[in-house]
Amino acid sequence: MTVSVRSFDVVVVGGGAGGMSVAARLRRMDTALRIAVIEPSEYHYYQPAWTLVGGGQYDIARTRRSTRTCLPHGVELVAGRVCGFVPEANSLVVDGGTTFSYRCLVVAAGIELNWEAIQGLSQTLGKNGVTSNYRYDLAPYTWQCIESFSGGRALFTQPPMPIKCAGAPQKILYLAADYFRRKRVSADVRFFTPGPSMFGVPFYAKALARVMQEYDATACFGHRLVKVDGEAKLAYFEVEADGNKSIQIEQFDMLHVVPPQRAPQFIRESALADSAGWLDVDKETMRHVRFANVFGIGDCTSTPNSKTAAAVKNQVPVVATNALAMLKQTGESMRYDGYASCPLTTSAGKVMLAEFCYDGVVTPSFPADPRRPRKFYWWLKQRFLPFLYWNIVIRGRHWPITHRRREFPEALPPIVP
Ligand code: FAD
Repeated sequence: MTVSVRSFDVVVVGGGAGGMSVAARLRRMDTALRIAVIEPSEYHYYQPAWTLVGGGQYDIARTRRSTRTCLPHGVELVAGRVCGFVPEANSLVVDGGTTFSYRCLVVAAGIELNWEAIQGLSQTLGKNGVTSNYRYDLAPYTWQCIESFSGGRALFTQPPMPIKCAGAPQKILYLAADYFRRKRVSADVRFFTPGPSMFGVPFYAKALARVMQEYDATACFGHRLVKVDGEAKLAYFEVEADGNKSIQIEQFDMLHVVPPQRAPQFIRESALADSAGWLDVDKETMRHVRFANVFGIGDCTSTPNSKTAAAVKNQVPVVATNALAMLKQTGESMRYDGYASCPLTTSAGKVMLAEFCYDGVVTPSFPADPRRPRKFYWWLKQRFLPFLYWNIVIRGRHWPITHRRREFPEALPPIVP
């Protein structure tokens, strides 16, 4: 049997937000580099807008482009799925058996959505009022559920961390509650999370608890969705209190589910994984801790930042600079500070722009108190950020937006109608 082997300077695994952007950046930095992006999907998605789609504020068709049209000039697209790594031999294997060897590897394979972890969910998704903004085909159904809601109970669930865009489970709750209020529909809106608060960064958590109050929505902490019976319209939660677990059953008229998430299986089962299955990289240099010519970017890595496209945007120059320095042996090094941002759509027309770095340090790009929802941030979310993504980030270009540590009073800013 002949084994086909192809060689590149840089092989990028995954052509999503991180993979496409880093390939484009590297190509801009050195046009002589032979780069391949291995990506199984025919389409590239702008996932951050799926919240807006679910809230009836964005056209789903604008969130998807053909992968080929997103590919940087001079970079080769390999339409395939990586199934195994052989880092000791600087190579990897794609489904079908082709081996790729590299001088530098960048892993950008995203996060795996584990729909099956919730019993009965897959069978009822997309019908019986059960939906999720975490799939391209389902985000429009979220809006159908909200628009046709004629009163009753609307439940929104969040799985255990880590997940991509930790704010997304509650963003859609606010858009739904805002719509119900405008339409004067009587709704019992509830948020279920295994966590102890509305958000991982306490500075923003308090402000979000107030948003929940304003909508008269109920937050149920310590609750994990384990089963859905779509036809009976029942959701089953495992509740943990004082070290004891019990099952609580909730009736619903609509249910928005965010699935549990984990590192992709082919990374989890490889020599590149840490003990939890994530790509084991240094949280500042994004370089693998054991294999010096391997880098990671985005949701598949072990870095303890919030998994967002905003984080990816800030990781791109770090990965590209450090990878090129490794290839050219210049010793140059750039560091990632853990920056992430989460535009929380507190209503249709206003966003609370949560920006922070490692350890929850609050680092807004603008001097104003970020806990106050603003129309300007809505414009950023709905208009500017999609433009930035398609034309700057995945094109490997640089946009000089700088975040920095800023101090704000402990007290929440007053509510502005
Ligand atoms: P992805 O963009 O998911 O790309 C991973 C790629 O790897 C995919 O194309 C996949 O096909 C490919 N791949 C998988 N397995 C293999 C394999 N075996 N071989 C080769 N390729 C493979 N971020 C924000 O910044 N702001 C937001 O407001 C925001 N909101 C969000 C709302 C929702 C509903 C969702 C779902 C996400 C949101 N995000 C948001 C998160 C953001 O979209 C992700 O963090 C970002 O896309 C991560 O980029 P990535 O490259 O790591 O993964």
